[in-house]
Amino acid sequence: MKILVINCGSSSLKYQLFNMADQTVLAKGLAERIGIPGSTLTHQHDGEKKVFEQDLPSHREAISMVLNVLADPEHGVISSLSEIRAVGHRVLHGGEKFTASCLVDDDVMKAVYECVELGPLHNPANIMGIEACQKLMPGTPNVAVFDTAFHQTMPPAAYIYGLPYEYYEKYGIRRYGFHGTSHRYVTMRAVEMLEKMGIARDESKIITCHLGNGSSLAAVKSGKVIDTSMGLTPLEGLVMGTRCGSIDPAIIPLLMKKEGFTPDQVDTVMNKKSGVMGVSGISSDFRDLQAAAEKNYRARLAIDVFIHSVIKTVGSFAAVLNGVDAIVFTAGIGENAAWMREAIVKNLSYLGAEIDPEKNKVRGEEIDIATAESKTRLLIIPTDEELMIAKDTAEIVGEA
Ligand code: ADP
Repeated sequence: MKILVINCGSSSLKYQLFNMADQTVLAKGLAERIGIPGSTLTHQHDGEKKVFEQDLPSHREAISMVLNVLADPEHGVISSLSEIRAVGHRVLHGGEKFTASCLVDDDVMKAVYECVELGPLHNPANIMGIEACQKLMPGTPNVAVFDTAFHQTMPPAAYIYGLPYEYYEKYGIRRYGFHGTSHRYVTMRAVEMLEKMGIARDESKIITCHLGNGSSLAAVKSGKVIDTSMGLTPLEGLVMGTRCGSIDPAIIPLLMKKEGFTPDQVDTVMNKKSGVMGVSGISSDFRDLQAAAEKNYRARLAIDVFIHSVIKTVGSFAAVLNGVDAIVFTAGIGENAAWMREAIVKNLSYLGAEIDPEKNKVRGEEIDIATAESKTRLLIIPTDEELMIAKDTAEIVGEA
């Protein structure tokens, strides 16, 4: 069975076609600058990469082009679109309605539309992706996989903000959490790894650290999220590439007064001009910051501010969990930056966590990088959100 996974951003679209028999990726690619002059589609299969330059005025045209390329006699990997059994879509915000992935029908679409207010940057693009597939592949089921769903097990004490309760009731203002598909995937793998070490799932206490361009942590007890760092939107929590993370809320009206910002302008500053980019003034990419850090105070400062925010959040989640069996590192930074893992773990000696410097050098595979004596396991687990979406989709259409 073949499953197409689609992840629509506001002007981009990522796709992967899976063969579920052996869970391999047959082809994958990225459409960029959708709705902007100079659109491209980069398509990869069998180790080959081909870039197509073509006008892609909307997500519909982008998906149409993806489908054409997938079934193209020269570059394609299928002979007909009927080979695609179902399409799995990443959907950012599912609000409180969705605790798991589900088959898209009219009621689901209505609920996803209702969540646009909570995810104004992403949900409209996700909706366009689903609607384009419904038009272009009538009869092929679509499955929605929500970034918020895995976090829905949080207790009210973790998701209610200290605001008048009526705003939760009237507007759904609460903590939702994001990167849920990634946290779920690495949790699933970590639970398996811990079971082999004699720690049962029901007893397990794990902190999953998704450290990438966007970063979030989750506290996972018995396989279920009990707290997470992102909030109503993906802006809360850790200091990120360009997002400020948690700040004193009083800063917002102050900046609006001082700089004459509108609500949208202050939102742009916090989402796009802050984080390590804003602090360093150099880059949102940790490779650039590391390269500059020796000579540039603000690059070093940005790295230190990020590390501090991770250490602080790990500490608060260790308290929420009342102990930690394993800390999982994943995503761009978590998987690749050995120096960053080392800097974080250095401050976790209170958990008895000890890193093995040799094992910490390993990249691209699942590994426990803690020493044999370490009281906390330190796991690197490369995330695979697309595979998780494909698995959910296959299961929902009944052929897992
Ligand atoms: P997203 O999916 O959120 O866009 P990724 O999980 O792909 O992000 O992470 C991208 C980030 O990972 C980059 O911005 C960069 O800072 C970081 N990164 C990737 N490789 C390395 C590396 N070798 N060392 C340090 N940081 C890295």
